[in-house]
Amino acid sequence: MIAINSKLPQVGASIFPVMTGLAIEYKAVNLAQGFPDFPTSPQLISLVNDYMKKGMNQYAPPAGILPLRERIAEMTYSLTGKNYCADTEVTITAGGTQAIFSVIEAFIRDGDEVIIFEPAYDCYSPNIRVHGGIPRPIELAPPDYKIDWEKVKKLISHKTRMIMLNTPHNPTGTVLSKSDIDELIKIVKGTDILILSDEVYEHIIFDGKTHHSVAKYPELAERSLIVSSFGKTFHTTGWRMGYLLGPDYLMAEIRKLQQFAIYTCVTPIQYALADFMAIPDNYLSIKEMYQQKRDYFAGLMKNTKFDLLPVAGSYFQTAHYNKISDEGDYDFAVRITKEFGVATIPTSVFYTSSADHKVIRFCFAKTEETLNKAVERLMKI
Ligand code: GLN
Repeated sequence: MIAINSKLPQVGASIFPVMTGLAIEYKAVNLAQGFPDFPTSPQLISLVNDYMKKGMNQYAPPAGILPLRERIAEMTYSLTGKNYCADTEVTITAGGTQAIFSVIEAFIRDGDEVIIFEPAYDCYSPNIRVHGGIPRPIELAPPDYKIDWEKVKKLISHKTRMIMLNTPHNPTGTVLSKSDIDELIKIVKGTDILILSDEVYEHIIFDGKTHHSVAKYPELAERSLIVSSFGKTFHTTGWRMGYLLGPDYLMAEIRKLQQFAIYTCVTPIQYALADFMAIPDNYLSIKEMYQQKRDYFAGLMKNTKFDLLPVAGSYFQTAHYNKISDEGDYDFAVRITKEFGVATIPTSVFYTSSADHKVIRFCFAKTEETLNKAVERLMKI
């Protein structure tokens, strides 16, 4: 072996492949990793096939094909009132995770501090650290996982380069409110703080609630990069397609780097998505579909000893298991996978401190058959 100096010595495999691997090994129902187990639209699949057959199989422009960027700009305008220039302010990415990596790569340097709210999606902190940045986590706690903006104010200094948001939030399913947005506007006013807003579950929001995209608020949009994901919206997580929105001078910095990392994204899928997005119902209808799944799953879970926490958006349901066990959440999640055949995600892995609130996460982006099978098993615990 030659000598190397690992850039992320403490980091092992992400929890998602770990729990999926365990689910496969123990033939468990996989409610762990967040992916839909029902098919994507046959029409979308035919469109991809058609564009492949028509010969759209060579490089797309690095920022993505213009028709897709135009559809994204139109959708964003209709939902938020913010007009992003399709040419310079919308970029297609290889999924949400690569978009997040590229934004951090473009702007975070040695010693820059980035405020993140934990539990935080597991790529945030390693991405910051690998670029020399320092994550400054603020811990949120169940049941409501509310942000204490006074704590945020206290953490801000001349070193603060970025604040990362995630709404609807993974893993908790909470959403930012208008008053959260108002606090954030006050805090960043007059600073050079960038905002990276992870809005990959933008269309999955329940009970008539509003998705407060930072795009809606000019004081935030002018300093924000927004990440979204076609995988989440069209049940195609394996296609690795997402996009970024942001002011042109910020986007230019990201594009410089992205072209040398991935060059561009899959061409026929981009043409297919552009056609598919021309029908707004294809993305607007998913909130009802997922609300029904959330309610269906919650109804079944009444027959178990789990206590469900409120879910306002995303396709995740969190739950306390205090009535069942006082084990740590990781051990509990592993044990119920092995002994009862249902895989879930422990939420302590999303805290730097490994804070264990005895909460696990279920993904309900599944067929009723899968949910029935999972809850039949959970009832035995
Ligand atoms: N976003 C998905 C989740 O939270 C998983 C993504 C992944 O496996 N990297 O479960």
